This record gives sequence, structure tokens and C-alpha cells, in this order.
Amino acid sequence: MIPFSNPREGFLRQKPALFAALTRVLSRGRYILGEEVGRLEAEFARFSGAQHCVGVSNGTEGICLALMALGIGTGDEVITVSHTATATATGILQAGATPVLVDIEPSTYTMDPDRVSQAISRRTKAIMPVHLYGHPAEMSALMALCRRHGLFLLEDCSQAHGALYQDRPVGTLGAAGIFSCYPTKNLGAMGDAGLVVCRSAGLAIKLRELRQYGWRAYNSSQAFGINARLDELQAAFLRIKLRTLRTDNRRRRWLASRYATGLQSTGLVLPKEKPGCQHVFHLFVVRGKQRKQIMESLARNRVLCGIHYRKAIHQQKGFQGRIRVCGSLKQTESACRDIMSLPMYPELSPAHQNRVVRLLQTAAPLL
Ligand SMILES: *Cc1c(COP(=O)(O)O)cnc(C)c1O
Repeated sequence: MIPFSNPREGFLRQKPALFAALTRVLSRGRYILGEEVGRLEAEFARFSGAQHCVGVSNGTEGICLALMALGIGTGDEVITVSHTATATATGILQAGATPVLVDIEPSTYTMDPDRVSQAISRRTKAIMPVHLYGHPAEMSALMALCRRHGLFLLEDCSQAHGALYQDRPVGTLGAAGIFSCYPTKNLGAMGDAGLVVCRSAGLAIKLRELRQYGWRAYNSSQAFGINARLDELQAAFLRIKLRTLRTDNRRRRWLASRYATGLQSTGLVLPKEKPGCQHVFHLFVVRGKQRKQIMESLARNRVLCGIHYRKAIHQQKGFQGRIRVCGSLKQTESACRDIMSLPMYPELSPAHQNRVVRLLQTAAPLL
């Protein structure tokens, strides 16, 4: 069986180090917000070229906290995309703000900056692009819009740990960058975890307060906060995973180039990398008109693909009445109909990948 992602392989590869960390943390007796969290924060800040990093319980809470720390909440609007994980919209709603959804550029599946101006209202406080699948959104246009309209720029980097936009690491281009460390992500824990990076020391202090009931000192809330703490065990595991993140990303890029070569003549639409961008291939997403047949044919041969995502935010019942859609979402809806995510993880062997390629060469009808 070849799955589209395989966090267990990541565990097996680093088993001795992970078990050593487990013993170390359990023996120490401090389980939440301790030495491991502090070290991870410093190491991830260095990795991503950020001034500050704050460990949190997951990516959704990270988004919520970043908005809270910037004073964004009830009555405010945050412009984002409909073509994203539910977590993006959930985090915005959790902060009390309203997600305003715009369409994507079909070439990279990320926010179309040309759609953003018309979405800006008196209530708009922030723009939150998503570096979906590991490819950076078109940031320079969004940075200019934020400057012109006095808006905060927040990056949802949950699928793009280590990606570069014009040689700058994602997460450092705006007020804050939010990274999920869900087990399947490029930097994945063995449970829930998240990281928020930012430039401002003041914002980092607020994030630290808000992730723990708004405490400035023990049992003394300076502001209204939540519980979004990161635990020591996940932080210790992430420190080990972080050591190989660069080489893992390089490996993903190598696998992506092998896919690109092997699938050239299949008629499938392959992912693109814009000049000046470095894609980290959290997912390798292709498009084909006969998705159902292709996926079924692969599944019969024990190759499992994913769909990220079958339903956009505005198409999900749980978000009805809570979002504002701005303009047509034609590109989003069209992508949802024919995207599929092929197996992609650093441990995927070339032999297994060749099997996936051969199956696709047979299954995907030539254009
Ligand atoms: C994974 C993910 C998140 C955060 O998810 P959590 O499960 O809360 O850690 C946010 N945005 C995107 C685009 C994601 O893929």
C-alpha cells in the first residue's frame, strides 16, 4: 500500500532519538511550557529567519491567537481564500472575526491579489493568504495592498515550512506567520502542535500571554486569553524533526521533479513553481478531468491519493451564515472538482514512486 502521506515512516526513521526525547521529558517532570518549548521556539525562529517564535497548541489556535494579539475580533473582517483547509476559516471565526473569501490564481492555487481590492471594506483589518501545498502566495502585491490600506498581513504557513518567496522565508513577510505542526505537515509532531512567528517583540509578548489565559504573572490575567499551550513532549519531538527539515524539503523537491518528468506526457496538469519562489511540496497536487476514474484505478492497485480539498470553505454547511464571499469563486470551484494529491513524503522510495507514475501513465487519458 502506498498512501499519500505517511507520518509513521518519519517516526521509524528517527525512532531512537524520539524515544530518547520521550524518556528525557517524562523523567524531567515538567510537561507543559518548559525548557523544550523554549528551545524549540529559539530554533524555529532561527530556522525561519524570524525575530520571535511562540509555541502553541495547534495551527487553528495559532491563527486565532495572532488575530487576538493584533486586536482583531468581533465586527472585523479578514480576507482569505475559500480554497484552503477548514482550519484557516475556523481560526478566524474563533477570534470572533468574519472570513471574507476571494478566489485563487489557478497556476499556484493561492490567493489572487487582483481579487483582494474589491473585498476590502471599512471592517477589513487583515489579509491572510495561505501558502497552499507548499507554494508561496503572490506576496509583493498583497504587501503593497496592506501598506496602502493600513491592513495587517498574516501568513498561513501551515503547509509551507521552509518555503521561500523572493529568497525570504514565508512567515516573515507580514506581521505574523502561523505554522501548524499536525503530524502530516512538513514539520510534524506526534500529536497537535503549532508555531507562530513574528517580528515585533511586543506582539510576541502578547502571544505568550494570550496562549495562557492572558496571564502576565501566575494567575493574573492582563488580558482575556485562552488555553493554547504547547506541551513539552511535542516540542521535544519537533526539535528532532526540525534537524532534518531542510533535507526533507530537498527530498520532497527531488521527488516532485521526478514526478514532473514521469508525468509530462499524461495530460495531467502538474504543479508549477513561480520564478523567485521555492515550493516545499507539502502536497503534490495534479489536475485531471477524470479524477474519479484515475483515483479508483490507482486505489485498485493499492495507491491512495488525497483530495485537498473536495469542498471549499464556502461550500461547507458549517460555515453558512458566518462568512462573506467576495466575487466569483470560479477558479476555486473548478479546482475542487479535479485536483488530487499524489503520494508525497520524504520517505517515499523511488521504486514506489515509479509504480505510481506507471499507473498514472496507464490510467490518465492522453489529451
Ligand atoms: C493544517 C492547517 C492548518 C492548521 O491546522 P491544525 O490542525 O489546527 O494544526 C491551518 N491552515 C492550513 C492551510 C492547514 O493546512
